[in-house]
Amino acid sequence: MKRLFPLFAALAAVAQPTASVAQVPGVTTQVGATYRFLVGDVRVTALSDGTVPIDLHQLLRGANAKQIDDLLARSFQASPAEASINAYLVEMGDRRILVDVGAGELFGAGNGGKLPVALAAAGVRPEEITDILITHVHSDHSGGLVRNGKMLFPNATVHAGKADVDFFLDPANAARTGYDQRYFDEANKTLRPYVEAGRVKPIERGSEVVPGIVAELHPGHTPGSAFYTLTSRGQHIVFVGDIIHAAAVQFPRPEVTITFDQDQTKARDVRRQALGRFAAQGALIAAPHISFPGVGHIRRDGSGYRWIPVEFSDRQPNTVAPDLSAKPVAKSSK
Ligand SMILES: [Zn+2]
Repeated sequence: MKRLFPLFAALAAVAQPTASVAQVPGVTTQVGATYRFLVGDVRVTALSDGTVPIDLHQLLRGANAKQIDDLLARSFQASPAEASINAYLVEMGDRRILVDVGAGELFGAGNGGKLPVALAAAGVRPEEITDILITHVHSDHSGGLVRNGKMLFPNATVHAGKADVDFFLDPANAARTGYDQRYFDEANKTLRPYVEAGRVKPIERGSEVVPGIVAELHPGHTPGSAFYTLTSRGQHIVFVGDIIHAAAVQFPRPEVTITFDQDQTKARDVRRQALGRFAAQGALIAAPHISFPGVGHIRRDGSGYRWIPVEFSDRQPNTVAPDLSAKPVAKSSK
């Protein structure tokens, strides 16, 4: 055997990990990723369903590859970008509500489908979910409704825009509009079991869907896309659905759309109007595809906007804070 110099021998020893450590390199999956915060009296928990790479050169419309790359580079990103799939648990009185349920099994192994793990980490069982608010009937938002062909949330009422329920459950609309057939097939697999069980409450117009949460319909990305605003003790959060897919591009350039937008013009107008409104209001928003937890504020920035993620917090709310006040600077010992 070739003799190693002592330094190399030492490095070689370091590079001989134990069997369990050898599993680690390359693994960047998170462990039941959750993020909890309060809105008034209500506890909201962001749940990661995983992330999925998206080729923004192929998917975005209204900006060329160089413009996309330049905007991504400003955020130290490149295409394909990593899109989060975020869902949210809202615990309010005797209700346990999910806003969207992730992709379930629809994106295949390793992409999405982690919501049940995150939900378990948050200490909630699927059968304890009382209501599900679907922002829109797309695979990565309603796909997690079923597992192995069965309703994963057997006791939940599913609220979704009536226009989405009608549109996506009728396969004839795929041929009529040219919109991707896949969405119709997947809606039939995941939403229809709840329709047949009498568990879907379609939303026809803006209204309170559960006490403390108001739905607004904003057709564009899909015909029945909804925002849900939770209010508690004068505080609010708006669950916005898919008004943003590529934060690094669409905040600075809100006119850029994505091929998933069923009505490109309306989707663009909804985004522009919503971003302007949320920036003016200083609204807290929760967005499914912005980097987990996807919770933050929007600030106007030149002709576009900037995303400001929520300040991270990880402590008990009502504890006595340690005294971290400044002490006199010690005299130099020189
Ligand atoms: Zn989506």
